[in-house]
Amino acid sequence: MSRDASSQFVPSSSLDKVARGSLCAGCGGCAAAAPGRIAMELQPPGYLRPVQSGPLDAAEEARIARICPGLGQRVNPAGRRNDVLWGPWIAAETGNSTDPELRYRGSSGGGLSQAAAYLLEAGEVDAVICIAAAEDPVANRPVLATNRAEVLEAAGSRYAPSSPLADLEAHLQGGRRLAFIGKPCDVAALRALAAEDPRISRQIPWMLSFFCAGVPSHSGAEAVLAALGTSLGETVSFRYRGQGWPGRATATLRDGSTRDMSYHDSWGEILSRHIQHRCKICADGTGTAADLVCADAWETDDRGYPLFEEQDGTSLFLVRTAAGGALLERLRAAGKVETAPFDMSRLRAIQPGQRNRRHALLARLWGLRAIGRPVPDYRGLQIGAAARQGGSAVFARNFLGMVRRGLRRRD
Ligand SMILES: Cc1cc2nc3c(=O)[nH]c(=O)nc-3n(C[C@H](O)[C@H](O)[C@H](O)COP(=O)(O)OP(=O)(O)OC[C@H]3O[C@@H](n4cnc5c(N)ncnc54)[C@H](O)[C@@H]3O)c2cc1C
Ligand code: SF4
Ligand code: SF4
Repeated sequence: MSRDASSQFVPSSSLDKVARGSLCAGCGGCAAAAPGRIAMELQPPGYLRPVQSGPLDAAEEARIARICPGLGQRVNPAGRRNDVLWGPWIAAETGNSTDPELRYRGSSGGGLSQAAAYLLEAGEVDAVICIAAAEDPVANRPVLATNRAEVLEAAGSRYAPSSPLADLEAHLQGGRRLAFIGKPCDVAALRALAAEDPRISRQIPWMLSFFCAGVPSHSGAEAVLAALGTSLGETVSFRYRGQGWPGRATATLRDGSTRDMSYHDSWGEILSRHIQHRCKICADGTGTAADLVCADAWETDDRGYPLFEEQDGTSLFLVRTAAGGALLERLRAAGKVETAPFDMSRLRAIQPGQRNRRHALLARLWGLRAIGRPVPDYRGLQIGAAARQGGSAVFARNFLGMVRRGLRRRD
């Protein structure tokens, strides 16, 4: 993130703080705040990080400090129900796209892809900012989907770094009307950028997100390929999941053959061990800044734990704003999704990863502070109340664990 030794400009103090704390989420918001002078690049062990190539003026420096989710996030419940674990929300439903192809190719019930396809077909937006597979088959690139076929191309969760905000300035040119799909941190940065730039609220009336447990590095995907007995050089395309629910991680090789493994093995045993530091101290893996959020509405076993057996996909639709509620209502009225009411008290059981991270967060932040490492400034995210839910044993274990890892700089 720092400048090249030969460069003649002052490096951004905000980006420097982010780098010192390994706080970057990779969203690309800083590149949007200073286009042409900050670009996102893959850096070892395979995360997208900002690289500054020119001087920033004081206004740009201050803007990055306000919008960067690595430095902090603010949530204002503004009269909505405000759950300690899940933040502000208006309504919750489970359901799926009624388009069999979108449902099959989608990560869970195809809810996000259906919303995108509907907004395009109805002429509400000219394009949807999202991500799709890059030339490097395990990596992502930001794309503008302009029709259903391109939405389908982008469907499915891709457990790899993504910077969907990196090209925002170019996307805003020409006054196009857009929707945005991204990780919760991407949407938090976009919402904060919207407070600085009126074009964003005008041109991007829908910001959609998904529950996010964290972004694994590029090395994580390479480890999956190695476990499949192949390598990046031999792989022409790679799907992390989708085509069923949860769908299998599938590599297609040069000779046309495929190798695959279950979601439990790919995410649970490999990818989740490669996630970036910022994700381990993420206060908002559930998209509090978005209008509408989708997640996996897993079935549970007798103990309440999620089942990952293959079946037709079902999304959780979590409505965060009036705009998100109106969109879900229109999707329903147009017959594009079918939904049923969801009891939010079930969410803590079917999303144990999200629940546990919220319970652990305060202890992890205090552990990092205790050894002098910078942490994000979170406001309105009920971190203390979540820690009280978690209890003292969880607190002690996570505090000590973070101090130990931090001292070894194992993040
Ligand atoms: C990194 C990551 C972590 C996740 N963690 C959780 C979790 O903790 N709990 C949970 O329930 N579900 C998690 N998911 C899955 C996610 O919840 C489902 O994708 C969601 O249910 C949406 O399903 P869908 O069928 O509506 O989406 P789809 O119709 O398949 O659409 C998915 C959309 O997400 C976009 N997208 C995919 N990968 C990325 C990425 N890396 N960065 C930005 N945009 C992307 C695609 O471009 C597409 O527009 C995670 C997904 C990712 C990528
Ligand atoms: S979190 Fe986003 S805005 Fe902050 S430094 Fe990283 S890419 Fe830039
Ligand atoms: S876990 Fe949080 S910080 Fe990490 S990618 Fe997901 S939303 Fe962003």
